[in-house]
Amino acid sequence: MPVLVMKFGGTSVANLDRIRRAAKRVGVEVAKGYDVIVIVSAMSGKTNELVGWVNETSPLYDAREYDAVVSSGENVTAGLMALTLQEMDIPARSWQGWQVPLKTNSAHSAARIEEIPPENINAKFAEGMRVAVVAGFQGISPEGRITTLGRGGSDTTAVAFAAAFEAERCDIYTDVDGIYTTDPRIATKARKLDKIAFEEMLELASLGAKVLQTRSVELAMRYNVKLRVLSSFEEQSDDAGTLVCSEEEIMESNVVNGIAYSRDEAKMTLISIADRPGIAAAIFGPLSEAGVNVDMIIQNISEEGRTDMTFSCPTDQVARAEKALQSAQDSGEIDYRELVADTNVSKVSAVGIGMRSQSGVAAQMFKTLSNEGVNIKVIATSEIKISVLIDRKYMELAVQALHDAFELDKAG
Ligand code: ADP
Ligand code: ASP
Ligand code: MG
Repeated sequence: MPVLVMKFGGTSVANLDRIRRAAKRVGVEVAKGYDVIVIVSAMSGKTNELVGWVNETSPLYDAREYDAVVSSGENVTAGLMALTLQEMDIPARSWQGWQVPLKTNSAHSAARIEEIPPENINAKFAEGMRVAVVAGFQGISPEGRITTLGRGGSDTTAVAFAAAFEAERCDIYTDVDGIYTTDPRIATKARKLDKIAFEEMLELASLGAKVLQTRSVELAMRYNVKLRVLSSFEEQSDDAGTLVCSEEEIMESNVVNGIAYSRDEAKMTLISIADRPGIAAAIFGPLSEAGVNVDMIIQNISEEGRTDMTFSCPTDQVARAEKALQSAQDSGEIDYRELVADTNVSKVSAVGIGMRSQSGVAAQMFKTLSNEGVNIKVIATSEIKISVLIDRKYMELAVQALHDAFELDKAG
């Protein structure tokens, strides 16, 4: 029988009523003749609570134990979903990551999926099971320990299952009815897109649009998975939601197609650091070993052999970054006068494939922000995106102003 993957995010399984509602959606697809793989998140708020407990217990935690704790939310919803389906007389069984097994590497808290052998689940489908409910976000390392795939990781679980089982489609059910030109929760003028290109969605996701985890888009693009985002709260037709697809399938497009933001960024500056060949490696090597995800980097003009080096990273990695740089300073690998952390910044980005062939987008972005009195602290560009770091208090204003300036409320 054809296989369909259906993923339900946290708000879609937030309580028993919602789980029942989601199970009914699954029932509709089962009735159509699909064998269904359901991927569930933890109940909304659960993973945040678990992460909070870990941070309170051990601020510079051992990532293996972090995974042991934060993976648990999905175990609960997987079991409850299987029970709910059974109550509806649909043969269903739950699977934790290790039982599948969903094999990952050993990069705890940000593990990458290496393999999903389909045999165990397929054997159950052959026996008449109609729904395999799989706990999202988690897997097992080569050492046999539980791993997690990074925040939002259930999206990636879903796409990886769709690829491994050659599913007809991967439907991501969430609390919005599709992918919008920007987060509809902060810009009322955000417009729902019927389709979005893989490349654009990849940029938007990696720049903070949490509607899909970045890695899930990467996998969908690589394995050509038909990926759809839709609401779990509305009755659905077959063409509901937003399809993520290849560029060629999209007829109309704006130069800028989306605005993304990442609220919790930090800007770290090493003041008066000795400037010599190898200095960047001496700074960013230890940071990478400490698991700090450095994003933007600027090195200022040096004077008398000393310079300032600025980089950005997520705010929750500031303590790790400070510790790594302090120990590099203590061991004499680097020599700086002061480390200044500004933890009140956000990143706002404009994304569009059209930027490849049209100039002037950056200028328009800077002018728009300047008209609003927003000071730009750091700028980064690539072929299809422009990002700026600004004070957090201006983030929503900047997103709305850019959405207006690039006329994203109108179809291209
Ligand atoms: P889930 O729990 O279902 O995985 P998430 O909270 O991870 O849901 O993702 C859905 C949220 O993503 C929406 O509620 C919305 O606020 C946010 N979001 C950010 N950018 C966008 C966008 N461009 N389009 C739609 N939603 C977006
Ligand atoms: N529950 C996990 C999180 O909140 C994974 C997911 O929902 O995708 O990040
Ligand atoms: Mg999510």
